[in-house]
Amino acid sequence: MSNQAPCSSTAKRRVKYFSKIAKIPQLSAEERERLATVTDQYAFRVNDYYLGLINWEDPDDPIRRLVIPQERELTDWGQLDASNEGAVTVAKAVQHKYASTVLLLVTEVCASYCRYCFRKRLFMHDNAEAIHDTNAIAEGIRYIRDNPQVNNVLLTGGDPTTLMTDQLEPILKALRKIDHVKIVRIGTKTPAFNPYRFIDDQPFLEMLSRYSQPDRRIYFMCHFDHPNELTEASRQALHLIQQAGVICVNQNPIIRGISDNPATMAQLWNELSYIGVPQYYVFQGRPTAGNEPFEVPIAEAYFKVEEAKRRCSGLAKRAKYCMSHESGKIEIIGVDRQHIYLKYHRAKHKRDEQRLLVCRRDDEAFWLDQLRPVQGYRNDFYQGAAEQPQYQTAFDDEFHSRYRGMEFEL
Ligand code: SF4
Repeated sequence: MSNQAPCSSTAKRRVKYFSKIAKIPQLSAEERERLATVTDQYAFRVNDYYLGLINWEDPDDPIRRLVIPQERELTDWGQLDASNEGAVTVAKAVQHKYASTVLLLVTEVCASYCRYCFRKRLFMHDNAEAIHDTNAIAEGIRYIRDNPQVNNVLLTGGDPTTLMTDQLEPILKALRKIDHVKIVRIGTKTPAFNPYRFIDDQPFLEMLSRYSQPDRRIYFMCHFDHPNELTEASRQALHLIQQAGVICVNQNPIIRGISDNPATMAQLWNELSYIGVPQYYVFQGRPTAGNEPFEVPIAEAYFKVEEAKRRCSGLAKRAKYCMSHESGKIEIIGVDRQHIYLKYHRAKHKRDEQRLLVCRRDDEAFWLDQLRPVQGYRNDFYQGAAEQPQYQTAFDDEFHSRYRGMEFEL
């Protein structure tokens, strides 16, 4: 870990972007050709700052895994819209699932593309779910104005901080004119992908400070996956964002080979807590098309999260481990020899609010839909569940000993 204070250099750096795998010099010609079949299917974008974090000698380098395609992405797996966001889209680029929260998809561009993105459909050519023309934001603003129960708005996409100041400012200005919108959140991985976007753009920081007010703060929902992303530059960017009056928290999914090691998770959460960026959620990976190489089963992920928490201070381990399911945000609260215990943290339907779910333990399950409720347990979500055959749990003592009390090395 670096203990250095945020650097004070004023030198600007031009970050160069690549959207063609053929342009990545660190890959061999054979790799570039082979991986082009993957980027034909799922979009590719990266920049030279982030490429510089990769140890190219290590084929399993976590940063490499995060942005460089692999052929296994073409494995038949999952759906493009795994949480059925289409069902809660109430107007162009406007999602409304929980009464108090509206999502505005303000761009389909990110400072690089995570290979495991659950919204990769947005980056595909024939997709127009996000707002391309910021004038089109008017419809979303009108919707929010007409729904007084909405007290918080999440700007997402894509990454809203890839917008220029004069593109993002009208959106923030319009939202600040709506009295019932108290919190504006901005989902962003740019502090990890390209911290110079903030370091070198003082007008953007000043714009943030104008709209993050003492009585109504802007939150950055940052997305750091691995401690290697916490460079001196990214720490400086976070510091500047915080100085602009923005509250920063972190959230990320558990991704195989990137963020599924308890020691790595604990290091990330601890280091973030030192710089005032608490971990907010850790997510179960959604079963999204192209994501087969990145998925971790629920039970395994649960034990790894618990092991990571064991290594953290109270401030660092406040995160909830949740699944963003079509029916709501469901916290995985426990796994024992026979059962997996879940609880709705947020629910799409009133009947599910705060609801407890008890399911048969299945160590191969990745998603709620693969779990089976305990026989006799009332559970409307599973139609005809009582008629389903008893499921034999796949528990074995070896699994427990593998993930409990084990020393995980970086
Ligand atoms: S930053 Fe977020 S939206 Fe962008 S590619 Fe990564 S996961 Fe997807």
